[in-house]
Amino acid sequence: MAQLGKHAIVIGAGMGGLLAARALADWYGEVTIVERDTRPQLYEPRKGVPQGRHSHGLLARGREVLEQLFPGFTEEMVARGAQIGDIVNDGLWFNHGVFLSSASSKLSGIGATRPMLEGEVLRRLTQLPNVRLREGCDALEPLFDRDQSRVTGIHVKDRGNWNDTKTLSADLVVDSSGRGSLSPSWLAALGYAKPREEQIKINLGYMTRFYRRRPEDFEHLHGRRFAILAACQPDWRFGAILGQEGERWIVTLGGYLGDQVPADDSGFLDFARSLQKPELYNVIKNAEPLSSPTPYQFTASLRRRYEELPRFPDGFVVYGDALCSFNPVFGQGMTVACMESLALQECLKAGTQEIAKRFFRAASRLIDTPWQIAVGSDLQNPHVEGKRTAQVRFINWYIAKFFRAAQNNGVLATKFLEVANLMEQPAALLRPRIALLVWKSNRLPVRA
Ligand SMILES: Cc1cc2nc3c(=O)[nH]c(=O)nc-3n(C[C@H](O)[C@H](O)[C@H](O)COP(=O)(O)OP(=O)(O)OC[C@H]3O[C@@H](n4cnc5c(N)ncnc54)[C@H](O)[C@@H]3O)c2cc1C
Repeated sequence: MAQLGKHAIVIGAGMGGLLAARALADWYGEVTIVERDTRPQLYEPRKGVPQGRHSHGLLARGREVLEQLFPGFTEEMVARGAQIGDIVNDGLWFNHGVFLSSASSKLSGIGATRPMLEGEVLRRLTQLPNVRLREGCDALEPLFDRDQSRVTGIHVKDRGNWNDTKTLSADLVVDSSGRGSLSPSWLAALGYAKPREEQIKINLGYMTRFYRRRPEDFEHLHGRRFAILAACQPDWRFGAILGQEGERWIVTLGGYLGDQVPADDSGFLDFARSLQKPELYNVIKNAEPLSSPTPYQFTASLRRRYEELPRFPDGFVVYGDALCSFNPVFGQGMTVACMESLALQECLKAGTQEIAKRFFRAASRLIDTPWQIAVGSDLQNPHVEGKRTAQVRFINWYIAKFFRAAQNNGVLATKFLEVANLMEQPAALLRPRIALLVWKSNRLPVRA
């Protein structure tokens, strides 16, 4: 492939940064990922990614893209102990008061901790000869050429030597430093406008704990391999139990708008027992805990509208959670970062002119669907603030009917999970054949 430049820099080695670097590696002579953390022991969480201690489901679309970017990725993960399964057939999905029907599907998911997923992507990425990780290094503000309105690199500080600021030059800098990205402030300091922000405040209280996994546990899950109990009325509490590497379960419990899961043993178990279905509690009530409960507070879904800015510096792009950070219960962030990698590749194919503008537009289009899914679902909760348009109210009404129908219909269950896994557009749920099945099932008495 033709080279677009000698050097590209990515700020942040989270899933976003690694996937941005994968796209850039095909187009730049050298790609440097600047990360403030040092690489942890194998598959251990690290400070810069505190969410790494919590359940990280990879949607089917994310797995598919990872496989495309790193052929053989799934097999390697499984060889190292990750779980693989059919998302429809092996999962127990509860929402709107019912479980989805099971059915054999082509939706395939990997069950692994976030550190393992990230560690394996990093391992494959750094096998590329032109990608290098510069760890223990803080990215400070960008270098800016005012005459050309262009970012030409960044200032960095090595954590071992705080008095010494260095500069790194680059043809392109990608900010993938996560939700706390300083790009809006950097832009303001350079005389550019900040992006408009959209927020949906949900104030989730997450609590996560690991348990030893035993073969008999699957009986409590009716033979399935994992369970997701989604937040729905009346209490909007949720829980997930997922198989992970090392013969472990990861169990995450949570509530909306300040409904906190207690961090002590009995409080954690009581919260699990309070969920609308007993399956998750039945697995953990006698299981051996392998960690203490770990909390995480997620205040709001946050979308930064860079695509609306009339002016933006050349040589600079923002990526991943720095663009949009979704309510984590829908498990979308890593998959969106995967999809952005393909979008960035496509943009680079047309060169670097107006790369930021073209990438922000492409990313915005692909963010629209997961954002609509997450925000629309959150607005079902009457206590969440936000505008409930007629469209949102109709979709939420229809999805409740859809679930009622899909509890006994594998075609509908699969269709719903294809959309939730970003393999299909939400419009697929409204196709005449599907809508007819929903309508017919809702006229029948529900089978026990
Ligand atoms: C509680 C929780 C649960 C989640 N669960 C899921 C899930 O189930 N499925 C899913 O797909 N997604 C999930 N997500 C979202 C997912 O974690 C992110 O979308 C994904 O990690 C992509 O983020 P990122 O790489 O853009 O940012 P991050 O993962 O936040 O990574 C940012 C990186 O930048 C580094 N950094 C920051 N500033 C600097 C600097 N100045 N210099 C150098 N380095 C810097 C940080 O150390 C970090 O390594 C969850 C998120 C949360 C909060």
